[in-house]
Amino acid sequence: MAKGANPILKHRFFLWLLLAAPLVAVQPQDKTFSLQDALAILPEFQWDPFLQTGTFYSSGHYASFQAGLKGERCFSLIDGYEVISAPSPYLENGALRFPESFIISLKNAIDAEIKNDLKPFKVAAIILDPGHGGKDSGATAVQTINGKKVSLKEKDITLAIALNLRDRLVKRYPGKKILMTRATDVTLALEARASFANGIKLEENEAIIFVSIHCNSEINANLKKNPARGYEIWYLPPKVRREIIEKDNFNGSEGVRSILNTLKEEEFTYESKLLAASLLARFDEFIAPASPSRGIKEEQWYVVKRTNMPSVLIELGFISNPSDAALLFEKQSLEKYTKTLFEGLVDFVTLYEKPGGFSIIE
Ligand SMILES: [Zn+2]
Repeated sequence: MAKGANPILKHRFFLWLLLAAPLVAVQPQDKTFSLQDALAILPEFQWDPFLQTGTFYSSGHYASFQAGLKGERCFSLIDGYEVISAPSPYLENGALRFPESFIISLKNAIDAEIKNDLKPFKVAAIILDPGHGGKDSGATAVQTINGKKVSLKEKDITLAIALNLRDRLVKRYPGKKILMTRATDVTLALEARASFANGIKLEENEAIIFVSIHCNSEINANLKKNPARGYEIWYLPPKVRREIIEKDNFNGSEGVRSILNTLKEEEFTYESKLLAASLLARFDEFIAPASPSRGIKEEQWYVVKRTNMPSVLIELGFISNPSDAALLFEKQSLEKYTKTLFEGLVDFVTLYEKPGGFSIIE
């Protein structure tokens, strides 16, 4: 990554109407700028050499693009939702060159956004997904807690916490949709969870996040000297590509769809990471050291992979571990997990909805 900071990229589920613009050759008289020249107009820049995607930032707004060949046109995505077409930046002897009209188009589009700074972005919906349910108990364990034998089921723990968390979130955010994939002890397929989430309708300036809650378990934990314990938070590895902009619902060319899909994917990955980090910070504050951090990890969990939105999967702790199990059994500490998730989500939402556009963080 080149210099600059990462914004929380706001996504708006919005039309791609402008995509019908044909790919035509650049006017030959178009002057080109070096990156240094371009930075005099658009002050910050990030470059991903692997995907050949770049993003300019200015006054809380941003424009992303994918570099092409000299003479081609490219599409640039302004603030993650508005598409403009301009002569494409390209690499020449390893250095980026920017056609003048590309820079001007971006500058104009960003200036228009600055003028607008219309309705603030908001997280309109939070979906809580208590893992397992019904016939699927998830992980199970029998542990001795306070001298009593108790049997623990992942599906009960995740549901109890999610119900509690929902009530807290509803109270805190009466204007938001706080939804659950299941609110009772029912069997629910993973596909149903993902399609429920993907079916939520949003307005132009609204975002949605998906939080799946699970407990871990280790096979033969009781035979081990140090059975595994601790919490961890998962998100989708950036290299996994989802079909966020579906072929069936897209009117432009496949090339354009693919570029837009890449840009959208990067945005969701970034937001998922940020969501994971917000939650982890609160786990570190409230749960550690009673149960230790196993950190943020990448994995292609089904619900994370199939939900077209920022999404994370949380493993609260190991019910196969006696100390973690005790924490996940006692009413008081269960309340602590709920509080942890609540505070982490509030942190993310606050950061996301900060007035004046996105927040700059590293
Ligand atoms: Zn699970």
